[in-house]
Amino acid sequence: MSSPIWKFSKVSDKDVKLAVCNVCRDEIPRGGSKQRHFNTTNMIRHLRTRHTTEYAEYEKLNQPKPTTSPSLNQPTVSDAFKRREPYSRDRKTSRSELWNSFASMNNLYPLWRIKGSVAC
Ligand SMILES: [Zn+2]
Repeated sequence: MSSPIWKFSKVSDKDVKLAVCNVCRDEIPRGGSKQRHFNTTNMIRHLRTRHTTEYAEYEKLNQPKPTTSPSLNQPTVSDAFKRREPYSRDRKTSRSELWNSFASMNNLYPLWRIKGSVAC
């Protein structure tokens, strides 16, 4: 009963096998005759095909809440640096890493600029 679909429909007073749409009062079969067969698929489909506005609202409610905000999940530059620290004891690794970043930095500059500074 925790599905947000119940914000848009409710179990029929007459028949527990039916759900009643809160928007158009239509009766929707709940997918079986026994409680364990009941599902929300028919109601969701009803909402999706008949009431697009409500369905958009339902989709919003149905989205799992993120435990942390997305920005917190993204490692910051200092975080990435901290993570690397244990390896920096290895001189060979840190030096080649330095060269790699130096090489990629050079790639950002057009060749004429480097040539020009050499000429000066
Ligand atoms: Zn309806």
